[in-house]
Amino acid sequence: MSTAPTPTLPTDHITHPGPFDVIGDVHGCLAELTTLLTRLGYEASEDGWHSPTNRTAVFVGDLVDRGPDNMGVLRLVMAMVRQQRALCVPGNHDLQLARHLGGEPVAHVHGLRGTVEEFVFETVEFRLDVLHFYRSLPSHVVLDHGRLVVAHTGLAEEHHGRESAMIRHLAAYGVAHGEIERTDVWKRHAWLAGYQGAAVVVYGHTPAEGAWWKGNTINIDTGCVFGRSLTALQWPSREIVSVASSTTAGKPGRSFLTRSDLALDDAS
Ligand code: MN
Repeated sequence: MSTAPTPTLPTDHITHPGPFDVIGDVHGCLAELTTLLTRLGYEASEDGWHSPTNRTAVFVGDLVDRGPDNMGVLRLVMAMVRQQRALCVPGNHDLQLARHLGGEPVAHVHGLRGTVEEFVFETVEFRLDVLHFYRSLPSHVVLDHGRLVVAHTGLAEEHHGRESAMIRHLAAYGVAHGEIERTDVWKRHAWLAGYQGAAVVVYGHTPAEGAWWKGNTINIDTGCVFGRSLTALQWPSREIVSVASSTTAGKPGRSFLTRSDLALDDAS
């Protein structure tokens, strides 16, 4: 009998076959999100957004910070998740906001200040609602019988389907202890260099000039809040759907990733 600790497995969705629309970092860009959902065939109704063809949206995290309508994005995504029309994994910005809402002292940097200011106009119930929503999210999701993994910064194969405080930090921040590595892409996504897994890993976190495949991995953060685009990866068709951004909330902490940053040659 093994004495190893038994992890809690995020298996709730592993047999969910999709089809999915995995959506990159939204960062409060409500207008671009509704445009993208419309482009993907979703429709707005009285009880929120849904897909008439039973597609499921999967948010790669970083719903908030820097953009113009963080509360609107939270309301939209929380309603979809609660109605089982979407799944969501937390990004570093989401976990920092959750820490703030939970009463922890958190520096109001990287756009958190603006999000906190939006909460001034919200009820205590809504604050608690958001806190409970974030606390309910799994660190990452394994979907389509293990063929698809979605984590904010990506995740090494050895951690797929496992859950722990360390993996929660690793999936959201890219590092184990909650600090943010701003400049080195291989430190921000340390798992990426050696990834040989059979599962496709979809991630965001670091704005890139394009949504490019690198083996079985793809970064779909195309910098919506910085004026570029909001991108979805459709699964299993692997089609990329992007909408142009009309939001320009300053510059990212580093320049956008290029193909050469990811060691991709021009032909791949
Ligand atoms: Mn982000």
